[in-house]
Amino acid sequence: MELSKKRRRKLQAQVDQDYGYRAYEDRDVYVAEIKGKGRGVIASRQFLPGELVIEITGQLIAADDYDGSTYAMNLDDAWYLEPIIPGAYINHSCNPNCDMVQVTEVSNGLVARCNIEPGTELTFDYQWEAQWWIPKCCCGSKNCRGWVVAEDDVKKMKRLVSREKRKAK
Ligand SMILES: [Zn+2]
Repeated sequence: MELSKKRRRKLQAQVDQDYGYRAYEDRDVYVAEIKGKGRGVIASRQFLPGELVIEITGQLIAADDYDGSTYAMNLDDAWYLEPIIPGAYINHSCNPNCDMVQVTEVSNGLVARCNIEPGTELTFDYQWEAQWWIPKCCCGSKNCRGWVVAEDDVKKMKRLVSREKRKAK
């Protein structure tokens, strides 16, 4: 029997609760619910500027006929990295405390940009290209761009959004 979307979500929520399926905790970071943002990744200890916070590994998928999930990271032109937990839950910020850099051919690394105190949410700049479906940003920083979009693409994003709005009328 095919499970309906609603039923599947309900079952997943139950599994999450019973087994901590999507929970994560180690000496460096842990996953937690963050108010108004869904899940995020929090520092368990202090990190110094330039320090590798976590290495992000996952499944490699050929970019050819794959659009990528919400979590997919571009490794190079040919490959996407679908990060495993906790990497998948690191949120975007327009004023991030980490950078995402490629560390090996098959993994990325989250590197601290500044001093990070324990209990701080870890974020990096997704730098997504402007697309009409790009979500609004809720990073809450003073210089928030309004959408989860690269700084250079903010103007293009505004144009796309106003075009979609006109279409909807
Ligand atoms: Zn923002």
